[in-house]
Amino acid sequence: MSTLGKKPRVAIVGFGLVGRVAALELIEHYDITVYERDRQDAQTGAGTLAAAMLAPLAESVICSQAIAQQGLDAIKMWPRLLAKLDDAVFFQQAGSLIVAHQQDRGDLQSFAQRLKPLDGHRPYPVDQRMIADLEPELSGQFTQGLFLPCEGQLDNLGFFKASFNTLKRHGVHFFYGQEATVADGCVNNQAYDWIIDCRGVGAKVDNPQLRGVRGEVARLFAPEVCLQRPVRLMHPRYPIYIAPKPNHEFVIGATEIESQDDAEITVRSTLELLSAAYTVHSGFAEGRVLSLNAGLRPAFVDNHPRIEKKDNVIAINGLYRHGYLLAPVVVQQALSEGLL
Ligand SMILES: Cc1cc2nc3c(=O)[nH]c(=O)nc-3n(C[C@H](O)[C@H](O)[C@H](O)COP(=O)(O)OP(=O)(O)OC[C@H]3O[C@@H](n4cnc5c(N)ncnc54)[C@H](O)[C@@H]3O)c2cc1C
Repeated sequence: MSTLGKKPRVAIVGFGLVGRVAALELIEHYDITVYERDRQDAQTGAGTLAAAMLAPLAESVICSQAIAQQGLDAIKMWPRLLAKLDDAVFFQQAGSLIVAHQQDRGDLQSFAQRLKPLDGHRPYPVDQRMIADLEPELSGQFTQGLFLPCEGQLDNLGFFKASFNTLKRHGVHFFYGQEATVADGCVNNQAYDWIIDCRGVGAKVDNPQLRGVRGEVARLFAPEVCLQRPVRLMHPRYPIYIAPKPNHEFVIGATEIESQDDAEITVRSTLELLSAAYTVHSGFAEGRVLSLNAGLRPAFVDNHPRIEKKDNVIAINGLYRHGYLLAPVVVQQALSEGLL
């Protein structure tokens, strides 16, 4: 603690997803300074590209039971976090739908078999009529699928905007366009009581165990498409998801490539993502492409998040493809080591 009456000073390094969740958790009791290497309006970090689906059951196919269970717990924490914001941010827990074309039944069955049981939450097989009830615009398009009622999603761009505005109103100091270094308990040689290192892949310079996992996404405006919830298409070559956002915007994603290359999306990935989306809903044909992006998910070798504490520095990283799913739980665990 610093001088009597003054709030302890905290530096948050990296104002992506984790940095924002940490700042919101600390806002009441700390004097916060944020360092972010990008410009304020940049949309380059993983957190801005993400589909922001909260999908513990679907992701259980590729992650451990413990991670999926943590994700289930974290969904319940998002409403409390979002309630701290001055502006409303779209959040829903209306489930997600998994579908496959007739010829890809095998992929759907294999996916269903690999889902892990989660605290009483299970998938419900759905037929053509039930799919039409859930998503009327997919009526007749698919005859089989799975409904995962426990899943949710939020509007990540809305969250980024609202978190900045709220934190600014609370007097948080911002240094944008500053490539910060964390060394000797200081940020850019400035001393703080606490430093929360949330640099995502940017922390690789200090942590060689960290790697980036490339993901590519398209963001579309498609007024002819109306979907109530995220839809995943099982496909042997082009598995995709379509995550609806407010105002007929959709995030179509995502490739997953073991590569540190964060250069622009390739033509091949663009064609695959958009073609697969069109096979789900022909209304995407007249959609407008708002952005085509590529970014790196920060991951460790086991794809599990890590909290590392050394003196006054707490590093939170490796949230891989589960940042939105896990951030509320992981950040709270990290900050409970002395700050909360
Ligand atoms: C295509 C794609 C789709 C995804 N979809 C989902 C999804 O549906 N659901 C889900 O749960 N997760 C999803 N994710 C994963 C999620 O986005 C990440 O896990 C999450 O963003 C990681 O948060 P972070 O704060 O650690 O990193 P980031 O969000 O990348 O933030 C790190 C920040 O640190 C800044 N920075 C780096 N170095 C420095 C430095 N030296 N000084 C100052 N600032 C620095 C960066 O500019 C950046 O703003 C997706 C990711 C991708 C790429």
